[in-house]
Amino acid sequence: MEGLVPALLYERADGEVRCNLCERRCRVPEGERGFCGVRTNLGGRLYTASYTRISAVEMRPVEIKPFYHFHPASQALTFSSWGCNLSCMWCQNWHLSRSRPPERSEPLPPEEMLRLALRLGAQGTCVSFNEPTLLFEYCLELFPLARGRGLYNSFVSNGYMTEEALRMLVDAGLDAINIDIKGDDEVYRRYCGGARAGVVWRNISLARRLGVHLEVVNLVVTGVNDAEEDLRYVVENHLRHAGEEVPLHFTRYHPAHRFSAPPTPVERLEFARELARREGVLYPYIGNVPGHRYESTYCHACGRLLIRRRGYRVLEYRISGDRRCPRCGAEVPLTGRFHG
Ligand code: SF4
Repeated sequence: MEGLVPALLYERADGEVRCNLCERRCRVPEGERGFCGVRTNLGGRLYTASYTRISAVEMRPVEIKPFYHFHPASQALTFSSWGCNLSCMWCQNWHLSRSRPPERSEPLPPEEMLRLALRLGAQGTCVSFNEPTLLFEYCLELFPLARGRGLYNSFVSNGYMTEEALRMLVDAGLDAINIDIKGDDEVYRRYCGGARAGVVWRNISLARRLGVHLEVVNLVVTGVNDAEEDLRYVVENHLRHAGEEVPLHFTRYHPAHRFSAPPTPVERLEFARELARREGVLYPYIGNVPGHRYESTYCHACGRLLIRRRGYRVLEYRISGDRRCPRCGAEVPLTGRFHG
């Protein structure tokens, strides 16, 4: 029982419990854990092993998430736990996502996390590295405290939580979410342990409707989701569910974990970005290619350089106080202020 605390969002069913935190909706038998390895059934009640169990905590620029249109040049106290509700073969953080929380670890309660964020001068919090939804109960306590002290709260997520979970996180103070779409159902089935792409698009759409700042990432993996039809699928659904103003990041894959295909050719990312721009996405980006011109922001109307970045650093910021292009006056969709 050590380190386990009662979980939220589950129901009892014939001696098992059904977890309703993510759309796997695992039926967990007595004494066992769900797919994520974090939530366990003891005596017909669901417990989480990740509450206050923090695997990493560090200050990071918000651009690294990536968030390019949210509090530019701010620093977020970024932290993680263990486990994941997907099992992507190329996971860069597999040492966290494929591990269970340790039996014993020094707890870091939400109040202490907030104190640390304030002491280090963070402008916000960010739950990242492994799937942040697995720190659900922790975030429900931390987010209102952080918001009360003027900090924003953000998630870097696979977007596979239930609708109820996302609504509760937003009610608690989630300000921004970055959702990674892997591809269509076939990509999730073959490479990520199975999941429904439609759920991820549903949550992208819901986040937008709930007024959360949203950015979408598509990791373009060599030989997996890099064909024109795969990229077109992402662009078309992005326009349908997120909308033209939401940034879409095509990021470069590098071999990791159980996947050894070569890194994504930069030309393929450029092709994806060009396709998105042509189809009507106003702010398509290229990520994980430091120094590339399309990690910077250009006015969608006149093409003027607005934010120059390099390797997650903001080098120039040319947007006027009322969030307009200084040359043509077009409105630039940004949330929060510049922190440079
Ligand atoms: S969070 Fe998702 S993967 Fe984990 S037990 Fe609940 S339904 Fe299963």
